[in-house]
Amino acid sequence: MSRPLILVTNDDGVHAPGIMALAKLAGEFGEVVVSAPSQDRSGVSHSISLHDALRVFEVRPGAWAVTGTPVDCVYVGALHLCDRAPDLVLSGINHGYNLGSDVYYSGTVGAAREGQLRGCDALAVSHDRDASLDGVLPHARKVIAEMLAAADSAAPPVLLNLNVPREPVGEAPVVTRLGQRIYRDKVDARRDLQGRPYFWIGGPPDAAADGQEGTDVWATRRGFASLTPLALDCTAPSLDRWRTRIAGPDFDEVQAAPLQS
Ligand code: MN
Repeated sequence: MSRPLILVTNDDGVHAPGIMALAKLAGEFGEVVVSAPSQDRSGVSHSISLHDALRVFEVRPGAWAVTGTPVDCVYVGALHLCDRAPDLVLSGINHGYNLGSDVYYSGTVGAAREGQLRGCDALAVSHDRDASLDGVLPHARKVIAEMLAAADSAAPPVLLNLNVPREPVGEAPVVTRLGQRIYRDKVDARRDLQGRPYFWIGGPPDAAADGQEGTDVWATRRGFASLTPLALDCTAPSLDRWRTRIAGPDFDEVQAAPLQS
């Protein structure tokens, strides 16, 4: 069997130290293709460029800069730069945590999720922005090895979100669920040189915020690396309340209706 093909991306940009470290780590496991944004695209979530052309430049052997979003990079990487479907998509190592509600804003997680949507197992890797990349590597290595060992093309693809604190305890992460990330939200109103108003949004995270037991916030606050399996289907756990309130057709009635062209 050929070595696994691993597509590596991020949202901090193709020249960020984190992606260099992650691509090097991926090289321990397989053939590596890097497809990453030409500039920092942090916080762009799952956005895709449908109204702009994309330019693609090879910046290092096997590494391409794409003038688009992290999701664009996975799209172009998987369908054009890779000579076959990737076995694994890695995104990171992001400069800063992606915990709790961050997964809805994060380009790092968005890129990994795009890999999962395209049928690949995918891992997003992030760390405390004050930490060194070296502390992340044992944890990422352990998770990547397990993902490749457990790879099952007949099973639905998995998406894992790894966050590593400063000086993490041990060499394997604790498996958690998403917690609640708390920021000191702020809208900073300013004036430009012509006196016109403009705004900066986005305050810093509340570093003292603790999390519910078993969550990613809780684990990282205690110095443990956190691994959260994420699901694509975000349907609410129970539909009954809305079925009762809306009182719409039942499934038998929907099933019996002719297919619409
Ligand atoms: Mn980032």
